[in-house]
Amino acid sequence: MMKLLLHTCCGPCTIYPLRALREEGFMVQGFFFNPNIHPYREYLRRKDTLLQYAAAQDFPVDVSSEYPFQEFLQTVAGQEDQRCAACYTIRLRKTAQHAKKHGYSGFTSTLLVSPFQKHELIKTIGEEVASLEHISFLYRDFRPGYKSAVGRAKQLQLYRQPYCGCIYSEYDRFQDSH
Ligand code: SF4
Repeated sequence: MMKLLLHTCCGPCTIYPLRALREEGFMVQGFFFNPNIHPYREYLRRKDTLLQYAAAQDFPVDVSSEYPFQEFLQTVAGQEDQRCAACYTIRLRKTAQHAKKHGYSGFTSTLLVSPFQKHELIKTIGEEVASLEHISFLYRDFRPGYKSAVGRAKQLQLYRQPYCGCIYSEYDRFQDSH
């Protein structure tokens, strides 16, 4: 059975990819590395929600001890309009390195489930970092499962975040709300 590392951005986005990959026969383990999630208490809330769901699904998740949000902000400073490319690269490269170090056959990401993410860019960057790290990137279009997973997350009363993650996305989401 192929051992696959699933980069996980949060609990709700894990629901469908985990199920689909298990149905395909992969032995899936998770990896939580998301220095793009701000502020820190929001990061903790998303992590804890993921771990709550993972425990119920018997889904092992490695939580990175690193949260280099300063490095994230320094990287995107001055190129905020292209920040998502840097964000995907930081997260997927670390995932590829973790997968290689711990003997996984490949990696993929829950980011591929969201219709709100830049799907083709995630695919391109996943393939690029895979090539750099000499490991396979498993591309799947999980988006058809997004809607049902949102329904399931509501049923389970999982916390669902109202913005993508970084402070820029939080501003974009709420700037007109007052
Ligand atoms: S909007 Fe989302 S994907 Fe883009 S940089 Fe911010 S957290 Fe990352």
